[in-house]
Amino acid sequence: MDEPLYPLLSISRLRMGSDGAGVTTLVAGAGCPLHCRWCINRRLLREAPAASVTAEELLRRVEVDDLYFRATGGGVTFGGGESLLHAAFIRRFRAVCPEAWRITAETSLAVPQEHIALAADAVDLFFVDCKDTDGEIYRRYTGGEVSLMKENLRFLLERKGPEAVIVRVPRIPGYNSAEDQQRSAARLRAMGVTRLDLFDYVVREDMA
Ligand code: SF4
Repeated sequence: MDEPLYPLLSISRLRMGSDGAGVTTLVAGAGCPLHCRWCINRRLLREAPAASVTAEELLRRVEVDDLYFRATGGGVTFGGGESLLHAAFIRRFRAVCPEAWRITAETSLAVPQEHIALAADAVDLFFVDCKDTDGEIYRRYTGGEVSLMKENLRFLLERKGPEAVIVRVPRIPGYNSAEDQQRSAARLRAMGVTRLDLFDYVVREDMA
């Protein structure tokens, strides 16, 4: 099988408090199947990736923070873009990086279920940006189908258990209300989600 490559957009080191415990390095990858209106990465996603790297090459770029990761329980976070488009790569990276590192994935779950299955064992913690659980709001905001996100979330909860899944539920200016957000939270709890993060999107001028 060909060596999986990661379309690397950027590396952001020494992050704290934004994606779980400890010091983390965010590696952003290109590509996303959704078209969210207020995508903070839209400009970045349009650009060509800085490089396509193998798992060993990425490891060499991030291992400078090995001691911080080990001392704080942190590690590497795959984001983007849609990190799970690169599930085969994440799996390969897990196989070559130190076992003590925590591997985190930020995802909308808008990918075929095979990708989730492939990533499940390689990823310790998933941050799911669910957008909204209402089909109409979801479609209007992302251009995608909410049923895919829900099916994949059920699958992920079953495979990993609720402790490994944090679902972010945004209030999205112009798309949903505080009541919609609460409705989504209730639906997600009913699906077995125990770790929810409710927050407000802040729309900046350059995102309009
Ligand atoms: S899922 Fe994330 S990266 Fe993809 S379009 Fe939406 S906000 Fe942007």
